Amino acid sequence: MKLSRTTRLLTRQKTARKFAEPKPVNPPVMRASTLVYKTVADLQATRARRASEQILSYGARGTATTQALEDALTDLEGGVRTQLYPTGLAAIAGVLLAMLKPGDHLLITDAAYTPARSLVNEMLQTMGIDCEFYAADGSDLADRIRPDTRMVYAELPGSLLFEMIDFDKLVNLAKSVGASVVVDNTWASGWLFNPLRRGADVSILAVTKYIGGHSDLVMGAAVCNEAAYQQVGHGAALLGQTCSPDDAYLALRGLRTLASRLALHEQHALEVATWLQAQPQVRQVYCPMLPSDPGHQLWKRDFNGGNGLLTIEFKDPSIEKRDAFVDALLLFAIGASWGSFESLSLPADPQASRSVNQSGTSGAFVRLHVGLESVSDLIADLTQALTKAENT
Ligand SMILES: *Cc1c(COP(=O)(O)O)cnc(C)c1O
Repeated sequence: MKLSRTTRLLTRQKTARKFAEPKPVNPPVMRASTLVYKTVADLQATRARRASEQILSYGARGTATTQALEDALTDLEGGVRTQLYPTGLAAIAGVLLAMLKPGDHLLITDAAYTPARSLVNEMLQTMGIDCEFYAADGSDLADRIRPDTRMVYAELPGSLLFEMIDFDKLVNLAKSVGASVVVDNTWASGWLFNPLRRGADVSILAVTKYIGGHSDLVMGAAVCNEAAYQQVGHGAALLGQTCSPDDAYLALRGLRTLASRLALHEQHALEVATWLQAQPQVRQVYCPMLPSDPGHQLWKRDFNGGNGLLTIEFKDPSIEKRDAFVDALLLFAIGASWGSFESLSLPADPQASRSVNQSGTSGAFVRLHVGLESVSDLIADLTQALTKAENT
């Protein structure tokens, strides 16, 4: 029987099979550093197999719990194998360090997650990797691609302003020069968009966000095709990257409800975004689910749905008023990260994270994560905060 994606999200342990003994539904936590072997020959045979097989050999190389999560993410994204990391940023760093070497040309989006930009500028560039940013909408990619481009790195929609990019065009361009395609797929969380199914080599996920979904863990993953895994898995072993079985257990627990939570986040965010757009204080709401958003058509073409993120730009560029608005919010707590059940707000400065095209990126911006609370309560909260900010 061929199972739908929704069902597969809930039956990771192949529970359809008959088991000899009753067993837990969710994989239990296996904590281990040392694993002991019967004979020297067993030890050597296991070590020989672990480069090409997902096999228990030593705690840092994975446990039954982390392997169950790897399998679930591989299935979610349509990949071949997954490498886990202690954070989403560590996954980005691990992939870039494993796949690039001095002299290589990297093209990376101007809309990249800001810490990824810092990694590129402050570490990769100084290691002799030739790093170049391209416009958040991909409009200059054809001009910037070179025969020695080894990787095109994308994030879609982009961080903070959620710019979309024609992904099929990007893949074709990268492939025309033999470059790898790496995508930070955290916005879609592996559910709303699957870059590997459209020609990418690696899909990076900050598991911290919607997959964890409860603001109680940090973790990253790189879901790879066969060729990329050879580099990424080996790089992670060289760098000693791993993740805790307790966090893997929590991520697996969050994963079961990923689809249902995302559907509700999307619905709530769209209601809030539509309401915000009609407020006199608001200049623009950035959110690809809005029909007026410049990226809406591409998002509709390539994505299965949306999430809870949106960014407000106020008509009044006063940072003081913007901060008064954020301070006045009661249900949208001030905090970094997103993807959990609760609403959050964060003052944003897109200009500081753009170098290719800064037009329209200065002003008073706030990123909201719209949570699963009642939408009427959220709108009431935004209403009172807008009024308070007006009176500062
Ligand atoms: C949060 C985030 C990351 C990093 O995840 P951490 O687990 O916080 O390191 C990477 N990419 C994007 C797009 C993110 O939003």
